[in-house]
Amino acid sequence: MPELNQVSWQQLDASHHLHPFTDSRALQQKGARVIERGEGVYLWDSQGQRILDGMAGLWCVNLGYGRQELIEAAHQQLQQLPYYNLFFQTTHPPAARLAATLAGILPGNMQHVFFTGSGSECNDTVVRMVRHFWAQQGQPKRQVIISRKNAYHGSTLAGASLGGMKPMHAQGGLPLPDMVHIDQPYYFAEGQGMTPHEFGLERAGQLEQKILELGPERIAAFIGEPIQGAGGVIIPPASYWPEIQRICKKYDILLVVDEVICGFGRTGHWFASEYYGLEPDLLCMAKGITSGYIPLGAVAVGERVAHTLIAGGEFFHGYTYSGHPVACAVAQANIEVMQQEHIIERVHDDIGPYLQQRWASLASHPLVGETRGLGLVAALELVADKATQARYSESAGAGMICREHSLEMGLVMRAVGDTMIISPPLVITHQQVDELIDKARQTLDLTL
Ligand code: PLP
Repeated sequence: MPELNQVSWQQLDASHHLHPFTDSRALQQKGARVIERGEGVYLWDSQGQRILDGMAGLWCVNLGYGRQELIEAAHQQLQQLPYYNLFFQTTHPPAARLAATLAGILPGNMQHVFFTGSGSECNDTVVRMVRHFWAQQGQPKRQVIISRKNAYHGSTLAGASLGGMKPMHAQGGLPLPDMVHIDQPYYFAEGQGMTPHEFGLERAGQLEQKILELGPERIAAFIGEPIQGAGGVIIPPASYWPEIQRICKKYDILLVVDEVICGFGRTGHWFASEYYGLEPDLLCMAKGITSGYIPLGAVAVGERVAHTLIAGGEFFHGYTYSGHPVACAVAQANIEVMQQEHIIERVHDDIGPYLQQRWASLASHPLVGETRGLGLVAALELVADKATQARYSESAGAGMICREHSLEMGLVMRAVGDTMIISPPLVITHQQVDELIDKARQTLDLTL
C-alpha cells in the first residue's frame, strides 16, 4: 500500500470501518481524528498536533506510551511462545507466574485468578461463576445479580445487562433476565435534601430493600465499581460501601467488585477495595493490568468461591485468549515496573494529591458546579448557573462542546453528559499536571 496521508486514512476509515461507541453519521461528515503516535503522556495526530492524553487512552495506559520494558517483554514472549492455551490441563510460565504475582497484590485473601481477554469477558465470567457457585452450594435458585443504574460493566450481553446504561439496554433488548438495578450513589445529581452520609446510607439501603423484595434465597451477588468510571467518576459518600458490604454479609450475598478502571494504582492503591476496606468475593480487573498495551483481563476469586469451584470439577467456561502468554508477560513487566518505580506510593503520596489540589482550583470557574476526584481520576460538573447549580438541558450538549474545545487546546478530556473527566497516565509529572490544568481552564473559558 502506498504512503497514506491523513485524508486517505480518514477516507479508508469512513468507507470500511464501523467504530465502537460512535455516531457513524457524524463521523462520516467530519472524518475521524487520526492518532499516529504516543510517547509518555502525549499523543500526536496525523496533523502533527501534540495532545496531552488526560484519559490514558480509555483509562488504561497507566505507565504512559512507549515503555521499552513492556515492549521488550512482548517481543521476548513472542519469540519464546507466541500462543498457547490454558485449556485441558495445560499451563505456560507467563500465566502461572502472573497468577502468583497477582495473588501477592490482591486485597484480602484472594489467591486465585481466572484469566480473560477483557473487562467485559470478566463480567460474563462473573455471571457464570457466581451462578455455578450457588448451584454447587445446593442453592441453584440464587440467580439474581443486583447492580446499579448508570453502572458500566462492558459491552457483551452480560456486561451490558449488568451495566445500567439505558441506551445500551435499549439496543438489543437488555437486560438479560435476573439482572436488576438499584439507584446509584451520585450525590451531586441526586442527593438534594440529604447530607452525603444520609445519601450514602439511603442508596446502600436500596440493596437491602431489593433483596427483601425479591427474596434473599434468589439473590446470587451484588456487583459495583468502587468508583463508577464511565458513568461520570461517581465517588460514593464514605457511608456507602461499608453499608453495602454489611448488607451482603447479612444475607450471604456474594460481593463482586469491578476494578477494571480503579485497579492498578488509579486511586493510589493497587485496588480501590483497599481504600474502601472491601473484602470482595470476586474482583474484576483489565485495562491497567497491561497498561493497555495488549488485551488482558482477570477475575480474582476469594477462597470460599475458589474452593467450591475447584471441588466442583470442570467449569465449562473459557476463552481462546484467556491468559494469552504475550499479554501475561506484558502484565508481569507492567507490575514489576510499577513496583520498581513505586508508582502506587507516588500516586498516593505525591502526584495524586497534587493533581487533586490543582483540579480543585477549577471549582471557582463560572461554569463549574463541583470538582471531585481521588488519586489520578477526577471529574467536574458543568452547570448553566453557578449560583443555583442549575444544570444544562440535555439538548445543550455542553459536555460535547467542552470536549471539542479541549481537543483544540491539545488535551483529551472525556465528556459524560455535562461531566468532564480526566484519568491521566500514572507517570504524569508535576509540570504536566500544571499543563493539564492550564489547558482545562482555557477549555472552560472557550466553552463559556
Ligand atoms: N468494567 C468497567 C468498570 C469498565 O470501565 C469497563 C470498560 O470501560 C469494562 C468493564 C469493560 O471492559 P472492556 O472494554 O475491556 O471489555
